[in-house]
Amino acid sequence: MRTILIAGNWKMNMGPKETAEFFTQLDDAAQKNIEGVEAAVCPPFVSLSAAFSARKSGSAVKIGAQNVHFEDNGAFTGEISTAMLNVLGCDFVILGHSERREYFGEDDAVVNKKVKKALADGITPIVCVGEVLSERKEDRHFEVVKEQAAGSLDGLSADELTKIVIAYEPVWAIGTGETASPEQAQEMHAFIREQLAALFNEDAASTVRILYGGSMKPDNADELLKQPDVDGGLIGGASLKPADFSQLVAIAAGQK
Ligand code: PEP
Repeated sequence: MRTILIAGNWKMNMGPKETAEFFTQLDDAAQKNIEGVEAAVCPPFVSLSAAFSARKSGSAVKIGAQNVHFEDNGAFTGEISTAMLNVLGCDFVILGHSERREYFGEDDAVVNKKVKKALADGITPIVCVGEVLSERKEDRHFEVVKEQAAGSLDGLSADELTKIVIAYEPVWAIGTGETASPEQAQEMHAFIREQLAALFNEDAASTVRILYGGSMKPDNADELLKQPDVDGGLIGGASLKPADFSQLVAIAAGQK
């Protein structure tokens, strides 16, 4: 069985002070080691240290970053390396988020380099794919997601595939309050798994976790997480509130 992952993407929110407060306010229940459920938050770079310091000892909540560069070091102003994330102890890194694709020009080739670098340095990439509204309206969503997945994961071995997490995030559902229906999510997740089976193999495709992202919140999480190919959520807005995040972890625990 695949372990459910509830991962918070804090985007450009939550400075060090708010980050420390978040951990203080998080329910103990959400920080327990729950069999079959993993929880993680991905604060901005400047708040990572605060997150590690504020996380209670023994807390099972993992910490990740929202981006990383693919080179080891050098003249890359404003960038952060995997070695830097590893010094802190980051477990995850979000790669290829639609906001990075749209505002920072990241394409599948760049995402692919970052995925390979994160894997080589032992950080689990959460690789985002998803269509924009016009692509769904034109019925091109499967084609677009297929191309993003193939490009972002190009050259990985089947074994490496099992070490990553994929997040299907329909762009039209991110931060809009509009969620994909559980049926739409399941349909796309099953499609992605089918593509991965063809590109890699059945075993690896059935092992890899595919998260749903796009306005997931306590109100709609249960139905989404019930879908057989939905293995968790990448959550923006609702992950900023300790009570909502705790509730999302509890809902995931209830799926077991
Ligand atoms: C995201 O940015 O990854 C996301 C899913 O955001 P939201 O939950 O706010 O739609």
